[in-house]
Amino acid sequence: MKNWKFSTKSIHIGNEPDKETGAVSAPIHLSSTFAQDEVGEDRGFDYSRAINPTRQKLEENLAALESGKTSAAFASGMAATTAVFQLLNSGDKVLMSRNVYGGTYRLVETLLKKQDLSFNYLDMRSLDKVKEAISDDVKMVFIESPTNPMLELADIKAISEICIRHNCLLVVDNTFMSPYGQRPIELGAHVVVHSTTKFIGGHSDVVGGIVISNDLILMDRIKHIQKTAGAVPGPFDCWLLLRSSKTLSLRAAKQFDNALIIAKWLDSKTDLKNVIYPGLTDHPQYRLASEQQLNPDGEPVYGSIILIDLETIQRRDKFLSLLNVFTLAESLGGVESLASNPFHMTHGSVPEKDKIEMGLTETIIRLSIGIEDSSDLINDLDNALK
Ligand SMILES: *Cc1c(COP(=O)(O)O)cnc(C)c1O
Repeated sequence: MKNWKFSTKSIHIGNEPDKETGAVSAPIHLSSTFAQDEVGEDRGFDYSRAINPTRQKLEENLAALESGKTSAAFASGMAATTAVFQLLNSGDKVLMSRNVYGGTYRLVETLLKKQDLSFNYLDMRSLDKVKEAISDDVKMVFIESPTNPMLELADIKAISEICIRHNCLLVVDNTFMSPYGQRPIELGAHVVVHSTTKFIGGHSDVVGGIVISNDLILMDRIKHIQKTAGAVPGPFDCWLLLRSSKTLSLRAAKQFDNALIIAKWLDSKTDLKNVIYPGLTDHPQYRLASEQQLNPDGEPVYGSIILIDLETIQRRDKFLSLLNVFTLAESLGGVESLASNPFHMTHGSVPEKDKIEMGLTETIIRLSIGIEDSSDLINDLDNALK
């Protein structure tokens, strides 16, 4: 089992045929409580907030895909991220990627800062800035790579070496690449979080999150938070994710291929001044992307998110109204292509001044590329851009 490759693991780990009935698709254990044979003698399950058989299968499956030993599933990506920050004690300092997901920013600014934790947002593209900002009271470095929405990369391996020297945890939100496109634990990260709502769910029909690590002592603390704070996913949602994980490699491969084709087309065949995609050779971090973002066969992949700048609000709104295949909606990583305006949508809660500083203007559109035929997506964009 240890030697299985990614797709085999995604289909078979946590998906062994049911011992009792032979069911090939995992049963959904909706039970909230479990019969005990005697006082203090259960069969491994007692109460579904603490442990549930369907959730346990999902946790085994996703831990294996991220090269982790174990994982804990949550009711949303934000619940997973909140659990990770609950590892901290008051007075601790955190270094964060400067353009994290808007919901993570809101969590920090409106809830965590009230708990005597301090946060320093950094441009994690620069290792010098990380070295300058780190100190022994920094207990956690929290990065997204590539960031949402500006697609800035952080060198996970180099940052993990800095963290080891300062005895601080490196947490990577790997939602944007999925475990198919990047496995941070293999690069030295201690903890990986995902919004499973995105690539892992992949069909825009479930909200969820996961925390994965190789450190069993740390994961005991995360599992304590999971059962104590109680932001657990329901068994049906766990089953949906377990089922979706089986096709992650096919979906992500097609999405990444489509995105590269479309980004190249946008870059060379349209009048757009600014097309941002880490797979274009003119992306300032193309080299790092090619070394760090590898599919399970070791080939470089660049994700399914493309940014374009339409320069005027008039053109932005005209473009969005003319799209037929793309849907105007938040989220990403699903089989259907979406277009969004991060300035007003996902990043609405980030102050305007901070958005402008990171280059996020009102006219930037974020495209999340799905698994439709790339020619149909290109025709749709072509029509809306004209
Ligand atoms: C969506 C998202 C989250 C939050 O996840 P939810 O499932 O919506 O709670 C966190 N990080 C990133 C990068 C995301 O895209």
